Amino acid sequence: MDMLHELLNRHKQYFFTGETKSYEFRKKQLETLREVIKEYEPEVLVALKEDLHKSEWEAYTTEIGFLLEEIKFTLKHLKEWMSPEKVKSPITHLGSKSMIHQEPYGVTLIIAPWNYPFQLQLAPLVGAIAAGNCAVLKPSELTPAVSAVISKMIREVFPDEYVSVVQGGVETSTELLKQPFDHIFFTGSVPVGKIVMEAAAKQLIPVTLELGGKSPAIVDQDANLKLAAKRILWGKFTNAGQTCVAPDYLYVHSDVKLELLQHMSEALLEFYGEDPLLSDKYSHIVSDKHFERLKSFLTNGDVLIGGQHKESERVISPTIIDNISWDDPVMQEEIFGPILPVLEFTDLNQVVDEVRRRPKPLALYFFSESEEKQDMITSSLSFGGGCMNDTLMHIVTPHLPFGGVGSSGTGSYHGKSSFEAFSHRKSIVKQTTNFDFSFRYPSAKNGLKMI
Ligand code: NAD
Repeated sequence: MDMLHELLNRHKQYFFTGETKSYEFRKKQLETLREVIKEYEPEVLVALKEDLHKSEWEAYTTEIGFLLEEIKFTLKHLKEWMSPEKVKSPITHLGSKSMIHQEPYGVTLIIAPWNYPFQLQLAPLVGAIAAGNCAVLKPSELTPAVSAVISKMIREVFPDEYVSVVQGGVETSTELLKQPFDHIFFTGSVPVGKIVMEAAAKQLIPVTLELGGKSPAIVDQDANLKLAAKRILWGKFTNAGQTCVAPDYLYVHSDVKLELLQHMSEALLEFYGEDPLLSDKYSHIVSDKHFERLKSFLTNGDVLIGGQHKESERVISPTIIDNISWDDPVMQEEIFGPILPVLEFTDLNQVVDEVRRRPKPLALYFFSESEEKQDMITSSLSFGGGCMNDTLMHIVTPHLPFGGVGSSGTGSYHGKSSFEAFSHRKSIVKQTTNFDFSFRYPSAKNGLKMI
């Protein structure tokens, strides 16, 4: 506790020197981060294999490559994002100028989950550095190999009072949350998100919460079924379903259910071959606890495709289960694994009602050729973000803010939104001293008086 307090104090003292605020400093640190990520790429790939059995291709596209793109985009726009924004002044402010300054919060705490352990720790750091902050990183204890690499590479390039890494589990996280940080950026589950928000509320620390939930993939009668099948399964089984924005369950129109499932069966064969348990393109489950939790879902409904698993390697084949109801355990929590339950509907309004009755999803995917229906879904349901006729793609562009709404999260990041997530918008009026209006002051004499 004292050690963490001492660490935070060192960060604060360093922040108060003002060194982190200049454009040159931020640019240099982002370039340093880019270079060290490139240097450590082989070690990161090995660590991701060790912790999650992630294939090199998936590790590069979803973690390393993603980060390099994010840094490139940030470097390109940083100067423009940093410059104070001039705004109009009303007539009552005659003679003055009004500006919005982007002020770094100070020292931020970034707590990361295990599913994309490298990217989800460092992508917020890109925003924190760009906005001129100091940062304490808390990687996940469930991916020890990646956490060790993060710690080593950060130590190599950043002084401890600028960016530091604190490794540990719940206890460490709990102690960190007692410290007077200037901002907390948390990525993780909804229950822990509530703990983080409660802890932050005690000290009124601003928070960004990137959480999860049950994200539906809805396939209507008029969808391109072959593409829908491929895109839903790609989104679902990337990282073996351990993706916050993975389609959690499939909601398909009864008329096209069989055809869609047939396409899905073909797509899975194409993606992972006859035996996905042996595929080197397929991630494994992060821990025994998560493996057991997921295995218990295999008894829900009827397994249509998959269901094979190997405990010693914590791997479960891509699984589709049918004859599921909202009361089944698999529909009571975020699945976060390679199991796709199938529900069917005959009326799209019924889907809208069902989704509305539940916590607001982090993502929603709708498959239909009808623009009218796409607009109806977009305007009538509240969710963090999503795609029409695709999955996941909305989070891999720096031009779109990524975040949840309600129980799926608070705030957003990626691209300019990352810079904004770590900045306070400070309003400043620069008043003239060349003249003054006396009517705004109280006067012992009645009536208005101009000087
Ligand atoms: P988690 O909430 O269990 O853990 C996240 C972090 O919080 C870890 O660093 C962990 O050490 C810490 N933590 C755990 N329990 C804590 C406690 N009681 N008090 C304080 N800190 C605690 O989440 P996870 O299992 O690592 O990740 C999976 C969850 O994260 C899923 O719900 C997923 O949807 C969500 N997620 C969201 C996003 C997003 O961007 N919205 C991205 C990835 C994962």
